[in-house]
Amino acid sequence: MADAKKRLRRATTIYWIFLLYIIAALIWWFISLEQQNRMMYDLKLKQIATSDIGPKQYHEQEMRIRNEKRRNTFKYIGEGSTFLLLIIFGAVFIYRTVRRQFKVQQQQQNFVMAITHELKTPIAVTRLNLETLLRYHLEELKQKKMLEVSLHETMRLDSLINNILISSQLDNKKFSASKEELDFSNLTNDVINSFKSRYPDKKINLDIETDIDLNGDPVLLKLLISNLLENANKYAPKPSPIHLKLFRNDGTVQLNVVDEGTGIDDKQKTKIFEKFYRIGDEQTRTTQGTGLGLFICKKIADAHNASIAVHNNKPHGSNFEVRFSQ
Ligand code: ADP
Repeated sequence: MADAKKRLRRATTIYWIFLLYIIAALIWWFISLEQQNRMMYDLKLKQIATSDIGPKQYHEQEMRIRNEKRRNTFKYIGEGSTFLLLIIFGAVFIYRTVRRQFKVQQQQQNFVMAITHELKTPIAVTRLNLETLLRYHLEELKQKKMLEVSLHETMRLDSLINNILISSQLDNKKFSASKEELDFSNLTNDVINSFKSRYPDKKINLDIETDIDLNGDPVLLKLLISNLLENANKYAPKPSPIHLKLFRNDGTVQLNVVDEGTGIDDKQKTKIFEKFYRIGDEQTRTTQGTGLGLFICKKIADAHNASIAVHNNKPHGSNFEVRFSQ
């Protein structure tokens, strides 16, 4: 990563040197043309001064030569400014494209690092547990504990693979959600029950209005709620509760998933919905993840004409809000 940054810095320096060189050459071109213009003017003035013409004719010729000089100056200024503008537009375009490309490349590298770790850990844990169970006769309680851990890791792997597969489907421009009339209140309760079975110790406060109907894709909507709950669990201290609210609000259906964690900096509030985006650095980050969860949530919200945003929770934490217009 440090290598890539060094390369980018070197490329940026070379880019600036080239750009300054081109602008300096343009300015030099203008100065030398203008000098030539002035020399021609002086020469032509001298020519008419030594010729045999009357004062009236001299005056007319002088005016003509002066106008010609002024016209040339305007022409050089016009051409020079057009070139300069084109160069600046091109330079800004190239600069932004390269920066964007570099950012995407860096996020993809982050993703590959994260995914390698994320895929290997559950497999390694499950394999070790199964090998231990096969080899030794452990007490029933220990066996149960190991099987529970393995099951938990397998479920994590399953949701990770789901996220990867679905994100590539959602990325496809031709993708369209298969919508149906559904009871969103029931669907939300189903997701919460499955979340509770995975995290039986987590406290979760619910405020769910009943009989909220929605036209949507049940698989995707479940994934949206599940991803928000997973994050609320992952990015807040274990003993703090999660609050989930579902209600009708001014002709819309509103879902809020609130945690009492550290919250999200204002500058990161829109970036976190980008593909592979994770706050912090892959080397120092302690939480597991791939940067796909919220990207998927955004895509699912888009596919349902819904908006998704994160606000600050008071006194601390994040409040993810999804609004479905009906
Ligand atoms: P992942 O969790 O796999 O890193 P996400 O797309 O779900 O990817 O989230 C992107 C980033 O947004 C996370 O890396 C995390 O830094 C931040 N984030 C998401 N949800 C929360 C939350 N509830 N509280 C604080 N930060 C969050």
